[in-house]
Amino acid sequence: MKTRFAPSPTGFLHIGGLRTALYAYLFARQNKGGFILRIEDTDQKRYTEGATENLIRTLDWFGLHYDEGPYLENGGLKEKGDFGPYFQSHRTEIYKKYSDELVAQGHAYPCFCSEERLEKMRMQQAANKQAPMYDRHCLFLSPDEVKQRIERGDLYVIRQRIQEDPPRIVFEDTVRGNMEFDPKTIDDQVLIKSDGFPTYHLANVVDDHMMGITHVIRGEEWLPSTPKHIALYQALGWEPPTFAHIPLLLNPDKTKLSKRQGDVAAEDYIQKGYLREAIINFIAFLGWNPGTEEEFFSMNDLVEKFSISRVQKAGAIFNIEKLEWFNGHYIRQKTPAELAQLILPRLQTKWFHESEYGQITEESVDNPDEKTKYFLKAVEVIQTRMKTLEEAPDMLKFFLEDEVPFDEALLMREKMKVDKGVAITAFTKLIETMEGMSEEDIKDEEKQKEILMQMIQDAGLKNGQVLWPMRVALTGAEYSPGSFEVAAALGKEKSLRRLQAYLDKLS
Ligand code: GLU
Repeated sequence: MKTRFAPSPTGFLHIGGLRTALYAYLFARQNKGGFILRIEDTDQKRYTEGATENLIRTLDWFGLHYDEGPYLENGGLKEKGDFGPYFQSHRTEIYKKYSDELVAQGHAYPCFCSEERLEKMRMQQAANKQAPMYDRHCLFLSPDEVKQRIERGDLYVIRQRIQEDPPRIVFEDTVRGNMEFDPKTIDDQVLIKSDGFPTYHLANVVDDHMMGITHVIRGEEWLPSTPKHIALYQALGWEPPTFAHIPLLLNPDKTKLSKRQGDVAAEDYIQKGYLREAIINFIAFLGWNPGTEEEFFSMNDLVEKFSISRVQKAGAIFNIEKLEWFNGHYIRQKTPAELAQLILPRLQTKWFHESEYGQITEESVDNPDEKTKYFLKAVEVIQTRMKTLEEAPDMLKFFLEDEVPFDEALLMREKMKVDKGVAITAFTKLIETMEGMSEEDIKDEEKQKEILMQMIQDAGLKNGQVLWPMRVALTGAEYSPGSFEVAAALGKEKSLRRLQAYLDKLS
């Protein structure tokens, strides 16, 4: 058996396309079948430079490897597989051959109708509350007239002739069950455009047949086209593949997933710092579930447990919080070193390079010196709180910079009940106590806490009156991990230096 992913190269991989690719990939792999990538680029108006290369890189990033189709080698496009070319724009001769065959057998006909005539027809149909449909004007032209007009150079398209017999077009959809359509409601679809290029419908059917596709897995938006495709398979005398139309993706308000309500490009999610494992796990659940409480599925688990017959009919709601939740889970599954490797490419900022940690690289993480060990400790602290990799640089900043900003307003925030006098006392006491502590005691969060809490009690201060100034001086930030955790990560020397800097600026 064989499945395919057949995107139109529009410039980015739609998140729905990613799900289609994933389901087709999983189904192929679990059945030990083939999986191919075919580029449906017959719409010349929508051609986008570099779109195919981008698609290939994105599929590769997600680990959706295919057996046949275009791939990149040294930045150039190559093709692998015995059924190519895999770009529809390179297959126009093949489509022409089958379109001629369809015309010869009365399953298709040339149509010379102008855009104006078609527009008028549609308006009339709308006024009569009829569904828009080609009125078959050109089906009834005499063969002589057709010949003459073609010779004269009139522009024409080739339309499919939907037959009224058999009176029902039927097929079994793996997701939606038995599907039946009345041929009278099916439009005579254009198969070849006036520029000689095929439409999606003809190219898709010819290619699926010639490339040996046994199972077509695609979005529900293609369901209305399927009877046309079935009619084409019948007209060409070919066995149609099995179809599975997977549910639409919806916004939380149940409208069709759209750019307006969030990102629809898979690349945007990569950019924002969602991990591959999280996106795949999340996407797999958009229309499928294992029927158990289990939620975490690696690609291998999915190959084993995904089941096309458990795919739901109802639209699948794209819930970004759920994706964040998966992402948090997979971030916390990493070792600090693994996570550091993912964060480093995002730390290529001026402040990082100017900091004393600016020299840390992927290699030093593999073989950490003292500075890298400190960096890994900081990563470990933020790891428990991060939702996306994108947040990491900001969250790491105060750990890595030489000095944190002096923010008096934050320090003496009304609700914290800290005035200048209290702050000076707090810093003095903290410095005094911490100077007497060993490095180990400070790095041991529990031990540090015990000692500092004792000091607060002895000084007759409220917890917040000490811990808030401590946190502000150590991080310079409004939101940060707790004081003890931060001090433990910073260590004795850095903590004291930062407390002293605040004290100096206050006195
Ligand atoms: N080229 C179509 C798309 O962009 C493929 C639809 C199908 O899988 O048949 O989605």
